[in-house]
Amino acid sequence: MIYLHDATLYTPAEKIEHGALICSGDTILAMGQAHDLPCPTDARSINMSGLSLVPGFIDLQINGAFGMDFTSDPNTIWRVGDRLTRFGVTSFLPTIISSPAETIRHAQAVLQEGPPSGYHGARAIGLHIEGPYLNPEKSGAHDPSYLRLPDPKEYQQWNRKTNISMVTLAPELPGAIEAIQTLSRNGVAVSAGHSQASFTQAEEGFRAGIRYGTHLFNAMPALDHHQPGLVGALLEDTRLIAGMIVDGIHVHPAMANLAWKILRADRTSLVTDAIAALGMEARTYQLAGRKVVVDGSSARLEDGRLAGSVFSLDQALRNLMAFTNCSLQEALLTVTQVPARLLSIDTSIGTLTVGNKADFVLLSPDLKVAGVWINGQAIVAEGE
Ligand code: ZN
Repeated sequence: MIYLHDATLYTPAEKIEHGALICSGDTILAMGQAHDLPCPTDARSINMSGLSLVPGFIDLQINGAFGMDFTSDPNTIWRVGDRLTRFGVTSFLPTIISSPAETIRHAQAVLQEGPPSGYHGARAIGLHIEGPYLNPEKSGAHDPSYLRLPDPKEYQQWNRKTNISMVTLAPELPGAIEAIQTLSRNGVAVSAGHSQASFTQAEEGFRAGIRYGTHLFNAMPALDHHQPGLVGALLEDTRLIAGMIVDGIHVHPAMANLAWKILRADRTSLVTDAIAALGMEARTYQLAGRKVVVDGSSARLEDGRLAGSVFSLDQALRNLMAFTNCSLQEALLTVTQVPARLLSIDTSIGTLTVGNKADFVLLSPDLKVAGVWINGQAIVAEGE
């Protein structure tokens, strides 16, 4: 048993100064104010004073990092997951962009097999299949030759048991509505993205089961007051959650702030959409076999189109606070409870709640990652 005390705890309901948390095995056993919750006699006591103790971060969209790209080689998922913890990430959806059916099956097999023994990295909680059912006019960095129409023979096999948690598709494609209905029934979170959908087409997709928008503003027509399109529909429908890449490049900080005023914390989901270049020096990298030039702040195809990001999820949290002036309590929701709720796993991860997994991050006063715990075990150096 472990007793962490004197940290500021961020629970769903409140911020507890001088808080204490007890974990037993991989689970949070009790929480409260340190003076109300003494150290059990058989517990190891760790002083966390000066630090904030917050839920572990969840990245719903990440293509790779540290020189490795999941779509080029799905075997890299655990090697990347092992190192993602330094950014406070305790769970993630390895993202496979538009590729042949064999690549998707390979990635499913990697997750099915599970991590190597002794693995202490971030938990891969299913794949995010971004494409191949995308609109060719909004293919972004995806190879257009892999794009195809929704194929029931392929997507009927996609569900939580086969390790697929999320699918991004363009709802206006022929056959997309049926795909959205089937995938939603299978427990997959379906997202609209890389799309030219009109407002009406987007609404039809939402009615069929879409609950998320992939990287709001990117790879979709710009917001227009006559043609609100997918951006307008995502902002307007209060059932929808929007993913956003707040690196200051994919979305102008003022536009991120404008979207935030509408979406607020419970409908905003920060993702990195990071590529192999995250955590590496500026040079040329691969994304699903395509050449991507990285200059230190952005990643682009040779024609200048953005090809994912090179920033980390803890940086996204700090950026959101800088762009919107929101509190840490609000910003945290966008990388913890909101993604967990989307995937219907919020009774297990995403909040500091008694009975949930003991996954948490310790933040220094300047909001840098000072420690990471997964399943009740310290992964990155603890406060003290
Ligand atoms: Zn994308």
